[in-house]
Amino acid sequence: IQRVSSLVPETEAIYETDLIADPESIVDQAREVLMIRNLHTLQEIGQLRETADSMSERARELEEESRRDPLTGTYNRAYLEQYLRQEFDQATRNDWPLSIAFCDLDGFKKVNDTYGHQAGDKVLQATADLLRRNVRRVDVVARYGGEEFVLVFPATDRDIARAVCERIVTAFQTTRHDIGPQPVPVTVSIGYATHGGGQRFPNVEALVRAAAPALYTAKLQGRNRTVRYDAAERAPVVQFL
Ligand code: GH3
Ligand code: MG
Ligand code: MG
Repeated sequence: IQRVSSLVPETEAIYETDLIADPESIVDQAREVLMIRNLHTLQEIGQLRETADSMSERARELEEESRRDPLTGTYNRAYLEQYLRQEFDQATRNDWPLSIAFCDLDGFKKVNDTYGHQAGDKVLQATADLLRRNVRRVDVVARYGGEEFVLVFPATDRDIARAVCERIVTAFQTTRHDIGPQPVPVTVSIGYATHGGGQRFPNVEALVRAAAPALYTAKLQGRNRTVRYDAAERAPVVQFL
């Protein structure tokens, strides 16, 4: 600044013009411009951060959406399989119990045939609500397909699994659906199995293979009930309500 200042009078004389009265003011102006630029940069950084935050929030939402069944909001089969595998490994590693239940609505085809597909959809949504309301927050409710749902109960032994499954069957028995001239009851059949407590499965597929036929037995036994798979007896154990 001093050098520039000292050159100013000479330069003014050469060009016969006024340059600047006060070189310090140039520095002040430059400082001001720099400050404004810094402020703008900070603002831009803030905006970019907001954009990045909302994009990662959206990515999280999309990921969650891709795991859900659009009709019922429960988890879909693809996510269930991934989740179940992970829970099975963890339960095996830590020697924790893990229970799963296959739930299938009874006579659902008749509901569709009598009251229409839309009424059927409404029952499926109510089913998802009933299941969610009767399990813990850590339990997973997934739509396996059609009117079949799978429940996963981490750290849950067979006695607790039985109590929960029976509570669910009772909840369905006492629920009516507002889909016709008269409120309509829809019952559920449940087959369940527990990994742990003396009954361990070699892999997750074996656990699923145990629970699915227990459901089939519940249907054969007359529906509206729970049936537990029991390897010790090499056949599902029927529990009449
Ligand atoms: P069961 O007691 O033996 O289980 O008899 P069910 O009538 O429930 O079983 P079935 O497998 O014969 O019929 C299942 C019905 O579920 C048939 C199908 O049209 C219906 N379904 C599957 N997915 C949907 C859906 O997304 N919406 C509606 N409304 N119906 C569905
Ligand atoms: Mg059914
Ligand atoms: Mg079915």
